Amino acid sequence: MTISNGYAGQIASRVRALDVSLIVKISEMAAARKRAGEDIISLGTGEPDFDTPDFVKHAAQAAIDSGETKYTANTGTPALKAAIVARYRRQGIAVEPNQIIASTGAKQVLFNAMMATLEPGDEVIVPTPYWTSYVDIIAICGGVPVEVRTRGEDGFVMNPEAMEAAVTSRTRWLLLNSPSNPSGGAYNREQLRALLPVFERHPHLGLTSDEIYEHLVYDDFSFISVLKALPELAERTLVVNGVSKSHAMTGWRLGFGVGPVSLIAAMSTVQGQATSAPSSISQAAAVAALDGPTEILESRRQNFWRRRDIVVAGLNAISGLDCPTPRGAFYVFPDCTALLGRRTPEGTVLETDTDLCDYYLSEAGVAVVPGTAFGAPGHFRISYAYAQTALEAALDRIAAATAALT
Ligand code: PMP
Repeated sequence: MTISNGYAGQIASRVRALDVSLIVKISEMAAARKRAGEDIISLGTGEPDFDTPDFVKHAAQAAIDSGETKYTANTGTPALKAAIVARYRRQGIAVEPNQIIASTGAKQVLFNAMMATLEPGDEVIVPTPYWTSYVDIIAICGGVPVEVRTRGEDGFVMNPEAMEAAVTSRTRWLLLNSPSNPSGGAYNREQLRALLPVFERHPHLGLTSDEIYEHLVYDDFSFISVLKALPELAERTLVVNGVSKSHAMTGWRLGFGVGPVSLIAAMSTVQGQATSAPSSISQAAAVAALDGPTEILESRRQNFWRRRDIVVAGLNAISGLDCPTPRGAFYVFPDCTALLGRRTPEGTVLETDTDLCDYYLSEAGVAVVPGTAFGAPGHFRISYAYAQTALEAALDRIAAATAALT
């Protein structure tokens, strides 16, 4: 028997309603061109180019050898929870083991949370530009994402007035991401505290804070968790974090959530039927990562910082692009509206950010992701988690292709 390509049954509307992500489309187009022999520099993907540190790999090997290869407790091993408790204690934040859930990536933490809390039609405020998965996770769980625009000149930080205007009786969560993918924007203590009155006026409103890029901040910016900046909201706050970005462990699939016991319990119920606990081996690896030396993280942070400066300077030297300097993560998000309406050497008018990104791919052989994918048309995202030589070559190519527009 052979398996058919066509499926005769029904695909549920909650899945049909979702588009294939623009990031996936761009990556596939770039990969196809590469296979065809073209010289493509792909700056589309959001993962560190470093390898997982050796001490983490060795801990995973030790876990395999000692038989830590079975199901674990649904919300994570006691050892992992102890490492997460200790990690937060070092930041002056008190967390109990039953306030923690370990999941198959930070993504599953978010999925569990939305699945556990949203009734059909419930709203989640998502500042733009947002990580693409937020709106699809919310939608798949029956919720409605409500976008609130942030601007480059404000560092892509949402102000309380804009947030207030988006709150309705159906709003369940504000979903914050600091430092942000794709903008690199990040909230300092004052900017977080400024949102508190909105929460005080609306007791039904919760705060989900995705802090997965917390270790990657630059200049004199110092990261602060909402758990520390907004202790008044502890009863309605969920923090999402993990080791994917901090320890270059995207493939290990290990994230965690920290929140009120009854919320974590509800998320555990969802996870128990979806996947059960994350991989026992990845959990052992994450213990080593969280308890391990920090020098390697610091040298990698310095490295990202240098690359950020090269990319921001390179983009701002190109007439028609305006690139704010991000506080964190490993993305830049230049404004390209000044280039829209211009003509390519072939005579095509570039109407949108997507047209511009198509042009950069076909003419310059550089793959970047249009801002439209992140709810912020008129921009594009470059991930600078790539070798400096590739970044410099990409900047030269983008400069030449941009100069050829009329
Ligand atoms: N949050 C943000 C903002 C991200 O950029 C990503 C990864 N692209 C994730 C969460 C997912 O992390 P994980 O790989 O741990 O699921």
